Amino acid sequence: TSADEQRRREQILAGAQERYYEHPMQIQRGWRHHLVDTTGRAYVDLVNNVAGLGHGHPGVADAVDRQIRILNTNSRFLYHELAEYSERLLALLPPDSPLDTVMLVNSGSEAVDLALRLVQAATGRKTVVALREAYHGWTTAGDAVTTSAYDNPYALDTRPEWVHVADVPNRFRGTYRGAAEDRSVGARYAADLGADLDRLARRGRPAAGFICESVLGNAGGVLLPEGYLADAYARVRAAGGLCIADEVQVGFGRTGSGFWGFERSAVIPDLIAIAKPMGNGFPIGGVITSRAVADALTSQGQFFSSTGGNPLSCRVGLAVLDAMEAEGTQRNAREIGRRLAAGFRALAERHGIIGPIHGEGLYLGVELVRDRDTLEPAAQEAAAICERLRELGVIVLTTSERSNVLKVKPPLCITAESADYAVAALDRVLTEGW
Ligand code: PMP
Repeated sequence: TSADEQRRREQILAGAQERYYEHPMQIQRGWRHHLVDTTGRAYVDLVNNVAGLGHGHPGVADAVDRQIRILNTNSRFLYHELAEYSERLLALLPPDSPLDTVMLVNSGSEAVDLALRLVQAATGRKTVVALREAYHGWTTAGDAVTTSAYDNPYALDTRPEWVHVADVPNRFRGTYRGAAEDRSVGARYAADLGADLDRLARRGRPAAGFICESVLGNAGGVLLPEGYLADAYARVRAAGGLCIADEVQVGFGRTGSGFWGFERSAVIPDLIAIAKPMGNGFPIGGVITSRAVADALTSQGQFFSSTGGNPLSCRVGLAVLDAMEAEGTQRNAREIGRRLAAGFRALAERHGIIGPIHGEGLYLGVELVRDRDTLEPAAQEAAAICERLRELGVIVLTTSERSNVLKVKPPLCITAESADYAVAALDRVLTEGW
């Protein structure tokens, strides 16, 4: 039972090991956008953004099975899969992208870590600017730029010297607020970032780089204000720094509008950190950048990971990209994302607890509030609603600093039927009470 398994874990695993739900569920199988627990009950999975193509994908399974029998060595040998996969990744960039170099690792945290090291090596500077309320990973450097109070043990005054935390451009509950089309909101946040960059330079700590997600995932999937990212990137570059897009969650077709999250802001970063959906559950991560930036490391030692970029992970990565193309994954993210968002918006007309609905494609956040004017977070309610939804067969969990946003980031293969089921289940919970 789940209780037995939980007790077993408590005896041998670290207390810091995170778990979903107060009474966690034990899963025995995943299939497409469904999970099945050990009692045989099936659920619609709205949270697993790693299995982008869906759980148990046969093309990915075959790639693992075939390649692990043929060859799995480290990247110090030559084999064709590493260059083949890297070429495929580069071909996914927008046509005007100058980025031409790939470095493969094993996870999102490693990718962020590497990107941070690269900007420091390439600029000869140390300071990295991260946005408030962000999650960028659990490794020592990734953790240092993780600024969400929820995820990160550093208080602002104990954060390492090389991290500067800038204001989060949240137009709903941040310093500056306004409508989606109000370009002055993004301009004001970017101007504040520019003032931070000037101050850092005056204090002898000029910025090596700036890292942010192209959609504010940890804030609940909040879309960046119009014009913010282009303006922020221009200011960072004018100050001599490099721009890192953390696309670990938002990349790979999730927003539906483009393959990359940054495409919706019409910018090209200097470095792109990628992971999660690359391997559909098989651990792969990477950084895409320019040769000039990547070569900054050669003077500082080698780049090598025992498993990063091995033939197995590259084969899996290729199988994922093949399947995404064959199955129209990005189009499904766009269409079902629109359907879900429309469903949630319709519910908002009848249920006052639904506040702003964030995001795009299958990167959505339904913010629950006690009052639509003050946006007082409905965190306890959100947790209870998630429990009730689980009873109705829908796995959805809370996110954000205030734990009041229902995070809707399902496998990208989710169907219209399951999307409608999830919206109807939420309607039922909000109508009947929780
Ligand atoms: N960046 C972002 C935006 C993430 O969401 C995550 C994982 N939640 C990471 C980095 C770290 O990735 P990983 O868990 O694969 O180390």
